[in-house]
Amino acid sequence: MSKILTHWIGGQAAEGRSGRFTDVYNPALGEITARLPLASDEEVNATVTAAQAAFPAWAATPPLRRARVMFKFKELLEANADELIAAIAQEHGKVKDDAAGELIRGIEVVEFACGAPHLLKGEMAENVGTNVDSYSLRQPLGVVAGITPFNFPAMVPMWMFPIALVAGNCFILKPSEKVPSASLLIAKLLKEAGLPDGVFNVLNGDKSAVDAILAHRGIAAVSFVGSTPIARHIYTTGTANGKRVQALGGAKNHMVVLPDADLDQAVDALMGAAYGSAGERCMAISVAVAVGDDTADALIAQLELKIRALKIGAWDQPGIEMGPLVTREHRDKVKGYIDLGVEEGAKLVVDGRGLVVAGNKTGFFLGGTLFDHVTPAMRIYQEEIFGPVLAVVRVPSYEEAVKLINEHAFGNGTAIFTRDGDAARNFVHRIQVGMVGVNVPIPVPVAFMSFGGWKQSLFGDHHAYGAEGIRFYTRLKTVTERWTQSCRSGAEFVMPTMK
Ligand code: NAD
Repeated sequence: MSKILTHWIGGQAAEGRSGRFTDVYNPALGEITARLPLASDEEVNATVTAAQAAFPAWAATPPLRRARVMFKFKELLEANADELIAAIAQEHGKVKDDAAGELIRGIEVVEFACGAPHLLKGEMAENVGTNVDSYSLRQPLGVVAGITPFNFPAMVPMWMFPIALVAGNCFILKPSEKVPSASLLIAKLLKEAGLPDGVFNVLNGDKSAVDAILAHRGIAAVSFVGSTPIARHIYTTGTANGKRVQALGGAKNHMVVLPDADLDQAVDALMGAAYGSAGERCMAISVAVAVGDDTADALIAQLELKIRALKIGAWDQPGIEMGPLVTREHRDKVKGYIDLGVEEGAKLVVDGRGLVVAGNKTGFFLGGTLFDHVTPAMRIYQEEIFGPVLAVVRVPSYEEAVKLINEHAFGNGTAIFTRDGDAARNFVHRIQVGMVGVNVPIPVPVAFMSFGGWKQSLFGDHHAYGAEGIRFYTRLKTVTERWTQSCRSGAEFVMPTMK
């Protein structure tokens, strides 16, 4: 019998009451591990009510105290890391060290949030008029929601709620229904850290719960991370309903390799960035842009050997480099893209279809796959595949590489590998992508910078976490005040100015 999971509402586990459930899998075995309740509109309403009830006291709590809860939470995350890592890896399929890495990147945002008293400080200007002072405040929005994807069960929620909470908001997390357990563990740890009941809630659900969140008048803002079609839907519907929305979408990240690059370094970078986490990362490199045929030939020769040697298996087996895909449907979709690439005329150098992992025969595995001679007209170039499939596009010059990337619909991440500082600087300035790496293949910004793409990779005005997170989760209030009675000048009917 698989276990039955719950929601987390008002500081306690809440059984699902809608009668609707979905299955949660261990993708390495292809087996169901749990049943997850899918929230109804009534459950969404009840969660918003619990969060609204907690908001006034939490918003009035001094930021220093809110930060102390976060500090305790950080310690609890570290103390319970093994359990969290297992929950992440078992439901997602990523290898243990990779799950540990995502947890650390999430904890770094918690550490950033511990600086709340400083981060929430406003500006002050004395004597903006005679005996008149002005200052600004950053105040919380109210109840805010986060809707997250399957590929980072802990890190992506932690891009959002630590900052929302220390800024004084109450938070409703709607995690991916494929990987819910990490969020439920996090909810328990937040309570243990001293967070008042109702300030953080987990609502499990599918499209129906998301649409109820988007329509609910009691929710002031929505942060979303997921695929581009859903991100667009969330942004359009959420803003039409008067909410503040940041919606981060899909990606097709290119890595340019110039002829002068350190080839061994570039190949290692491509292996990790294309096949790490089975390519299920929004910052995965899925296109290698080789400048010149010599560069392409040398890259392909080295990549082919390394891809054939990839160690593929379950998350808890030692020495494993790549796990399965998250679901059977997703594995089959990625396989379908490999079929399509062959039909479209790309050269299939390494074919990951048909891989069987001993001891995990029913797992959702797919081997590392490499295409050469991919062209911009092909769908395998244009669309996000989100699997262990790397496409090599050959271009004759650096200028063609820049043009290729700038014309792509997505603009999440990109990288250039070169020893030429002029070329690298030129690339950083001209490339129309939100996150850029120079000899760094996965340039995910650290917690005190901010994360976000351009073009179809982000809808909204604010990137995630860092200073952008503080701006997203607070409203600016500007005060102009005069206390002295010495300058009474009678009623003024014109716009006040400094005379
Ligand atoms: P997804 O868009 O299918 O799901 C994301 C969330 O939206 C989930 O919580 C899901 O329950 C909900 N959802 C799904 N369909 C919905 C619908 N029709 N209406 C309303 N809500 C719906 O994404 P996923 O498959 O879980 O995650 C992979 C995608 O996320 C990839 O496209 C990847 O690039 C993207 N991603 C982007 C970033 C980024 O920062 N830009 C980070 C991680 C993942």
